[in-house]
This record gives sequence, structure tokens and C-alpha cells, in this order.
Amino acid sequence: MRRITVFGSTGSIGVNTLDLLMPGAVDVVALTGGRNIALLAEQARRFNAAIAVTAYEDCLPDLRAALAGTGIAAAAGADAIAEAADRPADWTMSAIVGAAGLVPGLRALRHGGTLALANKESLVTAGPLLMATAAKYGATILPVDSEHSAVFQALVGEDKAAVERVIITASGGPFRQFTLAQMQAITPAQAMAHPNWSMGQRISIDSASMFNKALELIETREFFDFAPDQIEVITHPQSIIHALIGFCDGGIMAHMGPADMRHAIGYALHWPRRGAVPVERLDLARLATLNFEAPDPVRFPALRLARNVMETRGLSGAAFNAAKEIALDHFIAGKLPFLAMAAVIEDTLARLSRENSLQIAATTLDDVLNMDHLARKTATEAVASRQQGS
Ligand code: NAD
Ligand code: MG
Repeated sequence: MRRITVFGSTGSIGVNTLDLLMPGAVDVVALTGGRNIALLAEQARRFNAAIAVTAYEDCLPDLRAALAGTGIAAAAGADAIAEAADRPADWTMSAIVGAAGLVPGLRALRHGGTLALANKESLVTAGPLLMATAAKYGATILPVDSEHSAVFQALVGEDKAAVERVIITASGGPFRQFTLAQMQAITPAQAMAHPNWSMGQRISIDSASMFNKALELIETREFFDFAPDQIEVITHPQSIIHALIGFCDGGIMAHMGPADMRHAIGYALHWPRRGAVPVERLDLARLATLNFEAPDPVRFPALRLARNVMETRGLSGAAFNAAKEIALDHFIAGKLPFLAMAAVIEDTLARLSRENSLQIAATTLDDVLNMDHLARKTATEAVASRQQGS
């Protein structure tokens, strides 16, 4: 039986992953979650997992109580999540949100199996380290982001040297047609309401600001190793085409599918074969039109900031992601306006680049985590100085 671990099983990707698995047909090693203990315990019971881990120590008594008498082990904290990754698994889903997903993913790669990577932040913060770790242990990383799964699928059987450009699509989010003036007053509740995809709170807001697409540009660069100027973003409000590959003969391969993450998760689950996945089948006649437009760099500065990171590489991805997480925390808490998130991130990167520390290659975990820590501190200061200034 295939041994499976799901990091972030209680989240949007985690729930969709378990939806594709049949209890009894897989050997579930570990499931991890956060504060939703009722769901984590229900999942662990349903799949008779060996261990369930919550990220939070104060949730452990509840988790223990909910699993009493099942024989399922319970644990809590970041170290316990990393230790869960040390339990051998053949297929691991990395679906924790944020930089917290990096260490579990790295540790899971040591088993030499498959890491289905939804946690794009791992590639953004530590792409070279993640790819080198996979190579060292003979592990396979399969992208689970819809655009990156689409690129991966469109490249099967192709010669990478024949690729001229890679285009990932963006829905444009809920504010695609907002004016700059309207964007001054965006609330977290508005930013969470994505027009096409049902996702976790943080990635939904990142989609609205296009910081999700910024992370995805960097993710494309790190995973597929194309040059930054080969990678483009196009806004495509219907979210039917997820990515396109342009070849040297002028042909373009586009990947289409429903806006349902179970397609990309299912592809990673069945790879290298294809297996049946219960997503809606597209009715092209009903869709009728597919629109495309260039993203507006003025209202959505995230893509420009990502371009700088793609050029600089080094530890700038770790700094960019950490600053983004801090800015997002403050926006969600109602302490930072929507448009100020980009300003805080830009300010953080400018402050850090003066110290020349962004150039160091992201090849050791210590360097990445130190930069993550420093950038969080710097971004918090950048938020504070804006608040004092306003
Ligand atoms: P989510 O917020 O719905 O779920 C996140 C999961 O991580 C939950 O299980 C939560 O308990 C856990 N978690 C949160 N903080 C944690 C921490 N500090 N330590 C340990 N666990 C923690 O998020 P999601 O939408 O499922 O996204 C998960 C990842 O997948 C993100 O990296 C996101 O960018 C990526 N992704 C999501 C989608 C989507 O459709 N939801 C699409 C593409 C990529
Ligand atoms: Mg995506």
C-alpha cells in the first residue's frame, strides 16, 4: 500500500487531497493541521493515520481527547511536524501555507519518494536548496500549483531547448477592474472573495493583490529554470487556461481545465500515468469566450517586485516572501491598507539590499531561515515607520 503523508491536511489543498484518497486503500502515515482540531481528528480517524500533528501546543489536549482510544498518536508544534516528515512515506503532499512549509518538505525529500508541492513558498524562499535536496536523495518534486502543473504537463515529451516562453495566467482577482481610488479602501473581506477559485484565506488575498502571481513567477523560474525574460503573466479572467508554452516553431501549447485544484492534485497523485479524477468536465460551447489582457503594473506592482527577485535570486526570494507574509498579517489585522502591502515589501527589500545580504545563494537552511527572520523584523519596522508617518 502506498504510504502517504499530508502536511496541511485541514486546509483547502489538504481537504481536496484527502477527497481523492480512499480510506483503507492507502497507508496514511501523518496528517498535520492547525487549530481546526475537530477536522484534523476526523480526518485521522477516517484514514486511521499513524499520527496527527497540530502546529499549536495549546491545541494538543483537545487533539489527544479527540483521538482517545483510537491508537492514533498525537503531537504538537513545529518540531513535531518536522519529525512527522521523518516517518517514511512514498508520496507527500506539502500544503502548509507560508514559509512554515519549507522544513517539512525538505525533511520529506530525504525518503526519496514524491513530494507534491502546493507550498510555493518553499521554492520562492529556498528553490536551489529544495531542488538540490531532491536530487541528492533521488526524490521527485511535482508542482501542484495549477499553473505549474499545467506547465509541467505541457512540457511532457518536449525538448526544453525548443521552448521560447512560458506564460502563466492570472484571473486578475476581484479588483481587476477597480480604479486606483477604489483600491484605497479595500477590506480583507472583499480581498478574500476570489471570483473563480475556492482557496485558503491567505492565498485568496494574495491573488487579489497579485502577490500570488508574483510568487508564481519566482516559482516558475526556480522549478523549471527558465530565464526570467522567458516567463510572462497574462490576465485571463475565466481561469480556464492555466499556462501556455510557446515553442521556437511558433506553436503554443495551452493547458486547459476547470478551476478545481483536484485536477492538479490528481495529476501529481497518478503521475507518471493519468488516473480518473472527479472534476467537472469543461463545456466549451457554454464557455464561449476566453479573454486575455495585460496586467496593470500601476495597480498591481507585485509583478515588478517579483521580476527584481527573479534577477537577484540569492536570498531575495526568502526576504520577499517573509516581507509579504508580514504585510499580509497586518492587512488581515486591519492595520495596513491594501495598497500599502506592496510599499512595505519594496521598502523591506530596499533596506536589506543596502546590507548586501540578498546576494548570498539560497543553498543552506540556516542562511534561508536567518534571512526569513531578518526580513520579518525589517518588514515589521517598515510597517511601524509607515504608521508613524501617517
Ligand atoms: P489553507 O490556509 O486553506 O490551509 C493551510 C494549512 O496549513 C492548514 O492545514 C493549516 O492548519 C496549516 N498551517 C497554517 N499555518 C501553519 C503553520 N505555521 N505551521 C503548520 N501548519 C500551518 O491554505 P491553502 O489554500 O490550502 O494553501 C496551502 C498551500 O498551497 C499554500 O502554499 C498555497 O499557496 C498553495 N496553493 C493553494 C491553492 C488553493 O487552491 N488553495 C492553489 C495553489 C497553491
Ligand atoms: Mg496558482
